[in-house]
Amino acid sequence: MTDIIIVGAGPAGLSAAVYARRAGMSTTLYEGEMYGGQIVNTPEIENYPAIAKISGFDFANDLYNQAINLGAVLEFDRVSGISKTDSGFEVALASGKTDTCKAVILAVGASNRHLGIAREEELLGKGISYCATCDGAFYKGKTVAVNGGGNTAVEDAIYLAGIASKVYLIHRRNEFRADDVLVKAAKELSNIEIVTPYVVESLLGEPKLNGLELTNREDGSKKTVDIDGLFVAIGQEPKTADFKDLVTLQGGYIEAGENCKTNVEGIFAAGDARVKKVRQLTTACSDGAVAALAAIDYIKLGV
Ligand code: NAP
Repeated sequence: MTDIIIVGAGPAGLSAAVYARRAGMSTTLYEGEMYGGQIVNTPEIENYPAIAKISGFDFANDLYNQAINLGAVLEFDRVSGISKTDSGFEVALASGKTDTCKAVILAVGASNRHLGIAREEELLGKGISYCATCDGAFYKGKTVAVNGGGNTAVEDAIYLAGIASKVYLIHRRNEFRADDVLVKAAKELSNIEIVTPYVVESLLGEPKLNGLELTNREDGSKKTVDIDGLFVAIGQEPKTADFKDLVTLQGGYIEAGENCKTNVEGIFAAGDARVKKVRQLTTACSDGAVAALAAIDYIKLGV
């Protein structure tokens, strides 16, 4: 039986693995996609203490290597369910296999929120993207739009302004949720046009996206913009659907305090999928450490 199974190999899960291995716990991470989580899509991280600048991809790779070099095992398999047994937990995997452990850390993260409007899925890869660093290069010298008002949207707009000839930054309110420093930087770029307070009403173009119909949220007026690509950056949804009958959720997020303990003894939550106010790389890594140390205490001391 494995000591600790960590579900998700993003910054929270990999940080938990580093702490678990340093305490001598046998540790397996299960990841359904690529390791690194959402941070791999961030072009540059400039707010991680003591690292002035690093790409999200390099950060994820460094953290992955640190965990693996300490002896953590990473299996590419999706956890589809977890059940309590007399001696711990049984973990069911999408491959049909099962694994057992003494404690579980849910570090499942979140995925990109969709606009939920007509033709969004159909135009995915035909002008719609949720990842500027992945797909931005396809729009060299073209016109693109970014939808959203958080740090991701504004960072994406700044990144795309270095590739595309023109970037519309469309947000539903006049005030941005993003950090002031980013909004100021975006406003200083001559090829970013800020379009507020507008929502994307419909997606135009056949078979590829070539325009957007926008609605002004204050006066209801409509306008269209011609674009070659739309980058949707309107936040995330926690990936907790498989665990809704296992632990208590609040608005889809796993209910656990700063000690990362869920309502089920032996199950801990870390990172963006946990109920919390601040979702940052630093807080995801911090959660990983707290959850791992709590899991170690649970295994060794039963508390
Ligand atoms: P976010 O902060 O939740 O922002 C989402 C944005 O999308 C908000 O401006 C929101 O508008 C808008 N929005 C939500 N649903 C919408 C809809 N249906 N239609 C139109 N607009 C919609 O998400 P995020 O930017 O992805 O950031 C997630 C977390 O990661 C945040 O804590 C952020 O600070 C952090 N992050 C940090 C960095 C960094 O520090 N460098 C970089 C990226 C992300 P309203 O403002 O009106 O609600």
